[in-house]
Amino acid sequence: MSFDLKSLVRKHILTVKPYSSARDEYEGEQGIFLDANENTIGSTTTDGLYNRYPDPLQWEVKRELSKLKNIPSKQIFLGNGSDEPIDLLVRAFCEPYQDNIIQMPPTYGMYQVSADINVVKTIDVHLSADFELDASKVLAAVTPATKIIFVCSPNNPTGNNLNRNEILTLIKSFSGLVVVDEAYIDFSTQASLLSEIATNPNLIVLQTFSKAWGLANLRLGMAFGSEEVIGVMNRIKPPYNINGVTQQLALDALKNADLKDRMVKSIVAEREKLAKAFLKFPFVTKIYPSDTNFILLKTVDAMSIYKQLVAQQVIVRNRNTVVLCEGCLRITVGTAAENEVLLTALAKCS
Ligand SMILES: *Cc1c(COP(=O)(O)O)cnc(C)c1O
Repeated sequence: MSFDLKSLVRKHILTVKPYSSARDEYEGEQGIFLDANENTIGSTTTDGLYNRYPDPLQWEVKRELSKLKNIPSKQIFLGNGSDEPIDLLVRAFCEPYQDNIIQMPPTYGMYQVSADINVVKTIDVHLSADFELDASKVLAAVTPATKIIFVCSPNNPTGNNLNRNEILTLIKSFSGLVVVDEAYIDFSTQASLLSEIATNPNLIVLQTFSKAWGLANLRLGMAFGSEEVIGVMNRIKPPYNINGVTQQLALDALKNADLKDRMVKSIVAEREKLAKAFLKFPFVTKIYPSDTNFILLKTVDAMSIYKQLVAQQVIVRNRNTVVLCEGCLRITVGTAAENEVLLTALAKCS
């Protein structure tokens, strides 16, 4: 399928003049910097740091990520969580009151929220009862106003991978953007779609530092895609969307990718232990397979179990009202000690 960015992006996005910051206009490192109205003396923190604006395009972080992911720096976008690239893509490509996006419920809630905020319609193509993706059903729902298809794999809240070939069919057959949200890819047995970016300019892969890397507090999300699409996102992002402390800590974290891998192994081992242990509770009617750091359970009465757990100070996510998830609880894999407490609390539920 031919990809034509100019016909896809909202018309004014390519002509609007992006904000040009002091740090964009002079990129040298030597000299006396009197160009950005910073406090040249220092700051009000105890260590007196942080008085200078950070790198607006986070090149150091991207250089390290580029090595790790084998994707050129210019094809990487960093956002304030994954939520920022989701919003920027809707904003750049979907005309309010006119265009639409397609999503596959039950899935992550931010696609709907971003569409709603931007007054962009959503077309829902439900996953099957066992949470599988049917590309032909999705493609049949595409209209001339469909600009983005959001695919979440592994999917939240169901926990499963969507079929890779079905996703590839979507990418190859749809002339708009396909955004594949891989927030949980590190926990998955299925390979990332990052390897498909070089040959598919309409594919954007989202990943995050919030889950496997253990940095939810930093708010750092990644988008990988063609230079053209990443360029559009850079044009419209807030100039300093990633603060300097986050950039420093991300560089630090990227040196410890092996620690991330060890934590993932341990979380996956705990997940498998939990899945087995859940089998013995009579009120659990189904344990869905997981390629993530959480497990979706079907129960006889989700609200009742949820409340009984809360009474024992164990908080899980009640997904009972989500389409196709009646009776379901979503439980994050805890530490070995936390999981023991969870299982003891569940044993007291009826
Ligand atoms: C947790 C999660 C994210 C991550 O969001 P951040 O804004 O990066 O913290 C993205 N997508 C899905 C499906 C998630 O579950």
